[in-house]
Amino acid sequence: MVSFLNLKDVNAPYRDALVAAATRVIDSGWFVHGREHEAFEQEFSAWLGGGITIGVANGLDALTLVLRAWKQEEFLRDGDEVIVPANTYIASILAVTENGLVPVLVEPDERTFNLDPSRLEAAWTPRTRVVLPVHLYGQAADMPAITTFASRHGLRILEDCAQAHGATVGGRRVGLWGDAAGFSFYPGKNLGALGDGGAIVTRDPDLAGRLRALRNYGSHVKYENRCQGPNSRLDEMQAALLRVKLPHLDAENSRRRAVARRYRGAIANPLVSLPWCGGDESSHVWHLFVVRVASRELFVRHLADAAIQTMVHYPIPPHRQECYPAFHGLDLPITSAIHREVVSLPMGPALTDTEADAVIAAVNAYRG
Ligand SMILES: *Cc1c(COP(=O)(O)O)cnc(C)c1O
Repeated sequence: MVSFLNLKDVNAPYRDALVAAATRVIDSGWFVHGREHEAFEQEFSAWLGGGITIGVANGLDALTLVLRAWKQEEFLRDGDEVIVPANTYIASILAVTENGLVPVLVEPDERTFNLDPSRLEAAWTPRTRVVLPVHLYGQAADMPAITTFASRHGLRILEDCAQAHGATVGGRRVGLWGDAAGFSFYPGKNLGALGDGGAIVTRDPDLAGRLRALRNYGSHVKYENRCQGPNSRLDEMQAALLRVKLPHLDAENSRRRAVARRYRGAIANPLVSLPWCGGDESSHVWHLFVVRVASRELFVRHLADAAIQTMVHYPIPPHRQECYPAFHGLDLPITSAIHREVVSLPMGPALTDTEADAVIAAVNAYRG
């Protein structure tokens, strides 16, 4: 069987180092906001090539807290609008509505699945304050175009980097393009903890200071609270484990690119559309390898019969989710078609060439 993503295999090369790191934390007797967490924040910024990293409990909190901080400093007010891709994981949109802000859903570019910059002007209103691009499936959004649009209207950019650790645009890593960015270290992400974790990155020291307090009950100094805040901390154990894996992230992304190259070079089936990737290979870190097929159920069953595990990212678009009745009337044909047709093939740093070849053979044998 070829698994979609086997996290045991992903973590196996680091097992001894992970056990040593966990032991170090246990023996230290210090479990929240200590040396590991501080070191990880520094190391993540160094790896990214700039910015200030603020560890938090998960990726959703990373996005939610940035918008909350912008409300605190009165850049945002209740009911202000945030432009988000209609085609994204629900968390990008939850971060907006959690803060009493209004998500304005914009259709994607069908080639990249990301925000289509040519639709941004039409989505703008006098209440628009933020653009929230998502680097979906690991492919960087068109940041130069989004930046131009944002500066023309005085908007801030919050990047959702939860699927794209290490993707670059014009030599600059995603996370350093916007005013702030949210990363997730959910176990299945390109940089995955062994539990939940997340981080915010910003180059704005004032925002960083505000966020350091916000994630910790709003406390700047122990037992002193200038504002109200949640508890959203990256614990010492996860920070220590992430420190083991971070130095290997670039190599893992290279392996993902090699798998993608193999798939793209050998899958040839008129019923299966391959993902597009522009001339710059480094703009994609292949969190997922997503193909499109008209008859998804048949295709998934065909692959399952060939012992190939697949997933669907995602089966229901955000505007059709039960939790968002206000969006049910929206007409988003591109997003809806994508959600009907996408299938994610096995992808990960531990996938072997033999496994990839089994996937290729099974996809090529599909006859509809
Ligand atoms: C995973 C993910 C998140 C949320 O991260 P968690 O750590 O699971 O909270 C946000 N946005 C996108 C696009 C994601 O894929």
